[in-house]
Amino acid sequence: IEKANKQGFTIYDEQIAGKYRRKSMLRTRLEQAISRQELRLVFQPIVRVPVDNSRYYEVLLRWTLDGVPVPPDEFIPLAEQSGLINSIGYWVLDQACQVIRHSCQCGQPLMLAVNVSALQFQQDEFVPDLHELLERHQIPAALLQIEITESVFTVDKNILIDKTNQLRDAGIAISIDDFGTGYSSLSVINELHVNKVKIDKAFIDKIGQGGMPVLHAIASMSQSMGWEIVAEGVETAEQVQILTAINIHYMQGYYFSKPVEYSSLFPFTHE
Ligand code: C2E
Ligand code: CA
Ligand code: CA
Ligand code: CA
Repeated sequence: IEKANKQGFTIYDEQIAGKYRRKSMLRTRLEQAISRQELRLVFQPIVRVPVDNSRYYEVLLRWTLDGVPVPPDEFIPLAEQSGLINSIGYWVLDQACQVIRHSCQCGQPLMLAVNVSALQFQQDEFVPDLHELLERHQIPAALLQIEITESVFTVDKNILIDKTNQLRDAGIAISIDDFGTGYSSLSVINELHVNKVKIDKAFIDKIGQGGMPVLHAIASMSQSMGWEIVAEGVETAEQVQILTAINIHYMQGYYFSKPVEYSSLFPFTHE
């Protein structure tokens, strides 16, 4: 028994050591990812209900390391722990603004929603950086939106109210991402300027399995708060039919499209 236990511990230790080694390797490589051009953006359509011809996409970051994709759910937390998220987040915003600029120049304006980490959001430079980017790229604020998760509700309430007001004044719309899964405090969110809530896939998945009461509750709350609703992770025709029936404003998910490469955004132009 003693021997078996020892072996058990050894395997366990090795697993932990392996995970630790991967983390520190990724952290080191992530520092060089921008300059080595290993990062790129992909774009997933956010579809208006009923469908119109607007061009509205969420920007999603991709990292390919030695030819192998590293999932955002693995490297974003690492970037947050090491503080790298600020420079990566700025890079993403800068790239997104360039894409918007290009879309305006070729007469097919795109509206892009960019994910912003709570850490980046609470920086003093965040709103001034956005102003600088809009100015430098000469794009209308209405074409850039940001998505923040409920983790921002850990930020001081007065700072939150202040930032969201500054964004409203700048004309940049805000969506609350993964709505319903985090620590949204209704008393705080009620005082913030929020344009949209994105209902997390977990709720959409439960549509066929007794999930309707929660969806109805979110829908009626959103209506009284004046928020538009985006349903995330929509995968089936049944979900589309039910979400349409309860007057959701936008849908996003593999049913419509997986995230696409930059080149697919401008099929009629050459670069
Ligand atoms: P998120 O913001 O909730 O993004 C939605 C995720 O769900 C994306 O995963 C998307 O590819 C995936 N998805 C969309 N539709 C479907 C569907 O129908 N079925 C399924 N199974 N999945 C779907 P992705 O690209 O792996 O991103 C994961 C998370 O990483 C994002 O979740 C976001 O929190 C974070 N992330 C991605 N890009 C950025 C970024 O530029 N900055 C920051 N701070 N976070 C980012
Ligand atoms: Ca998002
Ligand atoms: Ca989400
Ligand atoms: Ca998510």
